[in-house]
Amino acid sequence: MSEIEQVIASNMCIGCGTCAFARPDLYAIGMTDAGHLAAKATSTEKDATLSRLCPMSGASSNESQIAARLYPELPEDSQIGRYRSTFAAHVNESEFRVRGGSGGLVSWILAELFRRGDIDAVLHVKPADPSENEGLLFHYAISESAQDMTAGAKSRYYPIEMSGVLAKLQGSSKRYAVVGLPCFIKAVRLMQDEGLLSREQTPFCLGLVCGHLKSHYFAEYLAWQKQAEPGSLATFDFRRKLMDRRASDYGFAFQKNDAGTITAEEAWPMASVRGRDWGEGLFKNAACEYCDDVLAECADVAIGDAWLPNYIADPLGTNVVVTRNAYLDCVIREGAERGALMLGEADVEAVIQSQSSGLRHRREGLAHRLAQRKRQGKWIPIKRVEPALAPTRHRRKIYDARLAIAVQSAAIYGVLRKNYQPLAAFEREIKPIVARYTKATLREASPGFKGFARRVVRRLRAALKR
Ligand SMILES: Cc1cc2nc3c(=O)[nH]c(=O)nc-3n(C[C@H](O)[C@H](O)[C@H](O)COP(=O)(O)OP(=O)(O)OC[C@H]3O[C@@H](n4cnc5c(N)ncnc54)[C@H](O)[C@@H]3O)c2cc1C
Ligand code: SF4
Ligand code: SF4
Repeated sequence: MSEIEQVIASNMCIGCGTCAFARPDLYAIGMTDAGHLAAKATSTEKDATLSRLCPMSGASSNESQIAARLYPELPEDSQIGRYRSTFAAHVNESEFRVRGGSGGLVSWILAELFRRGDIDAVLHVKPADPSENEGLLFHYAISESAQDMTAGAKSRYYPIEMSGVLAKLQGSSKRYAVVGLPCFIKAVRLMQDEGLLSREQTPFCLGLVCGHLKSHYFAEYLAWQKQAEPGSLATFDFRRKLMDRRASDYGFAFQKNDAGTITAEEAWPMASVRGRDWGEGLFKNAACEYCDDVLAECADVAIGDAWLPNYIADPLGTNVVVTRNAYLDCVIREGAERGALMLGEADVEAVIQSQSSGLRHRREGLAHRLAQRKRQGKWIPIKRVEPALAPTRHRRKIYDARLAIAVQSAAIYGVLRKNYQPLAAFEREIKPIVARYTKATLREASPGFKGFARRVVRRLRAALKR
């Protein structure tokens, strides 16, 4: 099998849509039973270039190689990739911060690029009318003005793919900024390298820092816990700012379609529902378990949440930022000089600290998952980390349990939903799977009497040796 065929067969396809854009006669993107988007071969014909375009394939250039070509002059850090500047930021002017998922910087940069005449349009993820979008609430879309673009603000933990919007770029002489998750930006870079997209046409790539992507069942599951029946959602906001809480304690909000009438919006704290623990990873796309890019290493600027002691208390949200492109770095600094932006300190160490759990899961955790697959005789893609089992028993259990939750939660939900089972049926089935994860994390945090006894024996042995 070719690399891209292995990616698809091993459930490591993130459904970015690159292959379906490059060869619509060979691949199509469709929804899986688990509520993720993924590629499917529609022909037996092969095309070797597709493995070089697929961001999840080991045959394509890796993030370090792409970044080395794009930003050769910049220093490289093993966790955050190449960097020009790092800082914390939020937007002071207009409604960007209030309307944004975090500090509002992504939308502000895009607006600034429109204002300066550097771009004509943006490719990003916007709300869709589910009745016109195969029941889905969000899609990749093109915004042709700053005003149109601001309707796209906020983070969408939801399956999306690019093949449709990329097809619209063909024959267009416009200049587009692309906003995407790290794997999507990597795909754009690979398409630029293979000549499928021109750099003039896509002069700026803005990357979102990424923990993982969710099945579309995630939104439905949160809303179902608040009495919204599956299939009834009309809108969904994954990042509702709650002004009496810390930035990380955000909420969610939704409207229902009640027999053709859109109901009033309801908002709830994430703390009031199950599924809020990103470490646990309910409904995670299992492909994310085989990705090693957190800080969008191929993007001109990577922007995330400043989950840091100095900034987390502010419920309006603060971004953590890694710039690579010199012009965008300048745009941000000039914004700060005229007071449009607040720039705060966040050095490389602070950026790493803000994403420490995600980075550990995708370095040490990825090495562990690769080693497990190798032991089981399964295919593994070439990654920037070598296969190696996690160093402690508890860590191994944590990583194994996370993978089981990712693979099984959305699959179980999909089957039960199809059979019109109640929410309680899902809770019953997922409980023992999640319990294994909870037990491992508790054991690691406080190893108990056995752990204590082992430590005492170790110390006694060391003392005797001395
Ligand atoms: C799936 C996902 C996982 C994330 N994981 C982390 C994490 O682990 N750690 C962290 O620090 N930050 C993470 N982020 C980024 C964070 O949630 C914010 O998006 C980021 O801080 C930018 O905030 P902002 O206020 O500047 O953006 P805004 O001004 O709100 O603009 C957001 C822009 O991103 C676009 N967008 C939203 N969702 C998507 C998507 N799925 N794909 C492509 N474009 C999209 C919107 O269309 C909009 O243009 C994640 C985001 C997503 C979508
Ligand atoms: S990750 Fe993207 S390019 Fe690779 S198989 Fe899936 S949809 Fe195609
Ligand atoms: S974790 Fe990796 S593969 Fe998953 S969405 Fe984020 S960047 Fe893509």
